[in-house]
Amino acid sequence: MPPRRIDPIGDESDSDVSIFDDFDESGRGKGKGKGKGIDRNKKDKGKGKAKEQPYAWEASYTRSWDTVQEDEAGSLQGAVADLIARGRRRRLLAPAAAIRRTIIRHLILILDLSSAMMDRDMRPTRFDLMLQYAREFVTEWFDQNPLGQIGVVGMRGGLGERVGEMTGNPQDVLKAISERHKLEPSGEPSLQNAIDMARASMSHLPTHSSREILVVFGSLTTCDPGNIHDTLAECVKDRIRVSVVALAAEMKICREFCDKTGGTFGVALNEGHFKDLLFELIPPPAQRAFARASSGAPANPAADLMLMGFPTRLPETSAAGLCACHSQLRSAGFLCPRCGAKVCDVPTDCDICGLMIVSAPHLARSYHHLFPVKPFQPVMSLEGTQNPSVGCHACAAPFKEQTAGAAGAADGVSPLGRYRCAECHNDFCTECDVFVHDVVHCCPGCGK
Ligand SMILES: [Zn+2]
Ligand SMILES: [Zn+2]
Ligand SMILES: [Zn+2]
Ligand SMILES: [Zn+2]
Repeated sequence: MPPRRIDPIGDESDSDVSIFDDFDESGRGKGKGKGKGIDRNKKDKGKGKAKEQPYAWEASYTRSWDTVQEDEAGSLQGAVADLIARGRRRRLLAPAAAIRRTIIRHLILILDLSSAMMDRDMRPTRFDLMLQYAREFVTEWFDQNPLGQIGVVGMRGGLGERVGEMTGNPQDVLKAISERHKLEPSGEPSLQNAIDMARASMSHLPTHSSREILVVFGSLTTCDPGNIHDTLAECVKDRIRVSVVALAAEMKICREFCDKTGGTFGVALNEGHFKDLLFELIPPPAQRAFARASSGAPANPAADLMLMGFPTRLPETSAAGLCACHSQLRSAGFLCPRCGAKVCDVPTDCDICGLMIVSAPHLARSYHHLFPVKPFQPVMSLEGTQNPSVGCHACAAPFKEQTAGAAGAADGVSPLGRYRCAECHNDFCTECDVFVHDVVHCCPGCGK
């Protein structure tokens, strides 16, 4: 972390203008990209408040509602439309061709719990922010990867610490990282110990599942018992993909881990960017034929078939029995279709016979990653369209009338608010476009 520039502010008799200039500069010096969209009007309104807290470090707290910009009429519609448009552009840039993706994912989340996490350069502290984002990350991750499993490892006091066992149940993971008092940061982190621990807990996994490690690293040092490059070599050999989100600065060893294992590396510039970096890791990774070839394993094997079992669900009213996973007496649960063992949750691997047990809805929800809905094309004008539809094909909300010289054509936003499916040529409104691509994953017009 670069040393914070603190602008000495003189006595209170300074004019308002100079105080605000100081604020602006200290903001820029810290590279806070987000949250600087505060318009002049707002600042003027906040003058009274700013006088009460004239110090730069007090003013650096950006309230999330200040970053939203209102238009002249005081409406937020412009800001919301801008957000939606940005998401749409990103989708249009995404590759349209089908790529092989791993939908059965295993991820170990390594959280830095060293004393460097008490730094307040991210509000309220790096530690609190990390826990908050980790919870959001886990929820979203399980939503998009219902067949995945997450384990959590902490780094503190020079050791790796198992915070949460690898599980497919989001509630268990959330519980593990919500007990803040058990995770109080202290001491030095040890990257090698934590990665070794994560690697050991994924060593038994079958080849068709992905092995991923995501490290949130706030420290600039690591305190390791041996040569960390040996650990790196082991990760490459085991095909473990390591991604690092650093909160302070780039460290060569972290960058090397990501580059050699095919993960991504990023340094968070501010709170918003931190979240973006985390959430970029939620969609399933594309399978890498190249990396497999270099590690000596067969290059891009023909689609290998895998065994999956669909369990029988036992109702609450059934006779109680011991489960194979926790050895507890329970009524409800699932029966493994191969060996008849009882397990508490799906998806999981049967503890007795090793069969992967999934439910059909889980499988169906993973399907859309392989065949995403093609992005709808923004309709720029209705010229050449015969009998344009009056309302959205999905929700029947009426479209805007065509107005001459409407703006906003450049960035993939339709001035008419119409987005057309390339397959069925039906028009959809902005809201339905987003809903179809983010939630439904299936075009209501053509079912593709
Ligand atoms: Zn159990
Ligand atoms: Zn079984
Ligand atoms: Zn609609
Ligand atoms: Zn369609």
